Amino acid sequence: MSIARAILLRASRSKWLAEQFRKRSFAKRAVKRFMPGEDAGSALDAAAEFAKVGIGTLLTELGEQIENVDEARQVRDEYLALLDDIRARKLPTHISAKPTHLGMTLDPAFCRQAYIALAKHAAEVGSFVWIDMEESWYVDDTLALFRDIHAAGQKVGLAMQSYLYRTPKDVDSILPLKPTIRLVKGAYNESAEVAYPKKSDTDRAYLEIGEQLLNGGAHPVFGTHDTAIIEEIRRRHGTDGYEIHMLYGIKSSEQRALAASGIKVKVLISYGEHWFPWYVRRLAERPANVWFVVKNVWG
Ligand SMILES: Cc1cc2nc3c(=O)[nH]c(=O)nc-3n(C[C@H](O)[C@H](O)[C@H](O)COP(=O)(O)OP(=O)(O)OC[C@H]3O[C@@H](n4cnc5c(N)ncnc54)[C@H](O)[C@@H]3O)c2cc1C
Repeated sequence: MSIARAILLRASRSKWLAEQFRKRSFAKRAVKRFMPGEDAGSALDAAAEFAKVGIGTLLTELGEQIENVDEARQVRDEYLALLDDIRARKLPTHISAKPTHLGMTLDPAFCRQAYIALAKHAAEVGSFVWIDMEESWYVDDTLALFRDIHAAGQKVGLAMQSYLYRTPKDVDSILPLKPTIRLVKGAYNESAEVAYPKKSDTDRAYLEIGEQLLNGGAHPVFGTHDTAIIEEIRRRHGTDGYEIHMLYGIKSSEQRALAASGIKVKVLISYGEHWFPWYVRRLAERPANVWFVVKNVWG
């Protein structure tokens, strides 16, 4: 991992920096590149624009590691209301939520019930729910959560990270469920004990796990902006049998070109006030992005 990426990922955990940043107007200007606005209405408006050009969307409310179950209850209720808005506006939009935002570490039973309630309501309104994957120490609990929701008869998608050594085994263990998996490279600061330190190994693992999913009866979604990887998947498998998901504001012209070429594309749109850790992870993915922040400081 590069030094710049490691420093940025460590900074993403600082509450003090988050406080400082949220108050500054330059930071709000810079973050606009990656999210249309802090409120759900801005995200829904952006989703409606994507729908006009045949691109589906996922919405996620930013926030992680909340402090009590009441907050988790509030997050669940906000997502339930969001699903109603998605139905009212007839949008081809799914939702994606972090387990720690729905209380996984505080009350696993509440978290499980919250995802089940969301999955049920999503099915009623023609939408779908995704479970994001967070740091490596949450993987066991997140897999257990996924299995429990499945056992309760509800369908949700699960993100899995190619930078973790363990992921091929984890994929094997859930393939019998015919799961819907979003394969990502992984966005957190992980040690060499659990994750590949070299990006080239993460990229190689990404394609290998992609094959595992494509050939193992899963419903794969490739959550990546890596056009070389996408090209390779298309060369091997054509345009059907998988989707490509990207983040709002990244490789926007590729998003449209891929959709026009017949591949199913969705864009993940974030909203919410607690954008600091998430935003700094986006900077860490491409430290050159830091220049956008610097330029914004000078207006
Ligand atoms: C839909 C979606 C959902 C995700 N969900 C999760 C999750 O649940 N858990 C998790 O750990 N991670 C998640 N991620 C983040 C993911 O793990 C990677 O950190 C991120 O996607 C960057 O990796 P990449 O595959 O795009 O490849 P890279 O090799 O990092 O990038 C490929 C190309 O895209 C460009 N690019 C990538 N990121 C940026 C950026 N921020 N700004 C500008 N250009 C960029 C690069 O410059 C490069 O040209 C998600 C990503 C997506 C797209």
